[in-house]
Amino acid sequence: MLFSLKTKLSLSYVLIILFCVAIVSISSNIMLERQFKNYVIKQQEQKANDIVSLINQRSNKTGNWDIDYIEELALNALENGMIISVLDADDNLIWDAAIHNDGLCQDMLLSMSQNMKSRFSETEGGYEEKIFNMTDKSKKIGSIIVGYYGPFYYTDSDLNFINTINKMLIWAGATSLLLALFIGAIMSKQISKPIARVIDKAHMISEGSYGERIYEKSNTKEIGMLIETINHLGETLKKQEALGKQLTSDISHELRTPLTTIQGNLEAVLDGVWELDKNRIEVLHEEILRINRLVANLGKLTKFESENLKLNRTEFDISKLIQDTIKIFENEFIKENKKIELIGNSEILYADMDKISQVIVNIISNSLKFTNHGAEVLITVVSDRKSLMISFKDSGIGISEEDLPNIFERFYRAEKSRNRLMGGAGIGLSIVKSIVIAHNGTVSVNSIINKGSEFIITLPKTDKKY
Ligand code: ADP
Repeated sequence: MLFSLKTKLSLSYVLIILFCVAIVSISSNIMLERQFKNYVIKQQEQKANDIVSLINQRSNKTGNWDIDYIEELALNALENGMIISVLDADDNLIWDAAIHNDGLCQDMLLSMSQNMKSRFSETEGGYEEKIFNMTDKSKKIGSIIVGYYGPFYYTDSDLNFINTINKMLIWAGATSLLLALFIGAIMSKQISKPIARVIDKAHMISEGSYGERIYEKSNTKEIGMLIETINHLGETLKKQEALGKQLTSDISHELRTPLTTIQGNLEAVLDGVWELDKNRIEVLHEEILRINRLVANLGKLTKFESENLKLNRTEFDISKLIQDTIKIFENEFIKENKKIELIGNSEILYADMDKISQVIVNIISNSLKFTNHGAEVLITVVSDRKSLMISFKDSGIGISEEDLPNIFERFYRAEKSRNRLMGGAGIGLSIVKSIVIAHNGTVSVNSIINKGSEFIITLPKTDKKY
């Protein structure tokens, strides 16, 4: 069976309150009963002793009893539930409450028995008597018989006192219950409202609509985190969807140009407008090579330019890595009569070697592509306390001012290089940028057209492993 948070919270509050009220009521009743019973018994004994000692003080050895005084005391005792009889030394009756007013005595005993039965349905109490001897210098001068409802009894005011306390407990319980329901409703609303918003949002996300952020605030830590997480999830999915769309449109745009060229050329040949000579085939071949390069680069794009680039950091010597990369390109540089040189000492970097290697390859291959015969490429590695800087400076064709801000964009190629045979797909530098940013570094470029370009990469040393 499924319960809503509201029902569960309210129910648990009510159950806790019921439980507490029951425990307090039962325990206080037991305690009260015990204490009160002892108190009442003591009080009765005290009263009986008081009467006995008062009569004893006024008693007369010569047999002159102060009947008025005894009567006053005995009537007073009768009001307190005691039936007094006073006897002289020879057990002759001096004064007896029952003889004085038997009706009143019987009424009083009946009312006591009713009081006790109203409180204890199975009371075994009944009329009891206690005899107290009055003595004067160890000589018995008489006795007093105290009759009462035993073993103890509650007067009307005693019963009132107990009932008032129980009523108070019932009121306190009922008020606490109402309060529990009220607080339960408020609390559950506070908790369930933001959760309901999160559920709505998750539902929307599952249907592909990322919508607005949830601005609901909650002072419950876990709910705050839940809201933050679902907002983040929505934003990430939205970003990824946008990236996916952008990528698809970029790719289709990139493919369209060579495919249109191939299609146009082939149609012209089919229509007999052009001859299918070597020249024509070379054009077609070049476009096919371009498509091939694009497809090959797409693989790299997914590997190195994904949004959440995962880094597999190790410690390695960056200068050695550059030197090794130079070796790969050495032949081509020599072939084109170009020079490439590294200046810098051994520098240990804690980074993803595979990805940093890709950065170096991309920039060096650009400096090979976009330089003329006899050009020079100088790579410098310097470091300070906080960061490491790698500069790639070439005396190549340079980049125009309009192109400069865009060269790190995916699929962007400067106009000049567009027609070059070696021109790539325009993703090399966008891969460089995303790898450097993933390492918390920066990449910048200075370039003067027809003079050369300098790409500067800085990587923080704080990422070093200690
Ligand atoms: P690709 O090299 O595949 O064309 P990149 O993203 O590596 O793509 O570079 C983007 C553009 O930036 C290049 O097409 C080129 O116009 C320009 N560029 C990059 N490096 C250099 C360089 N060293 N000298 C001149 N232009 C460059």
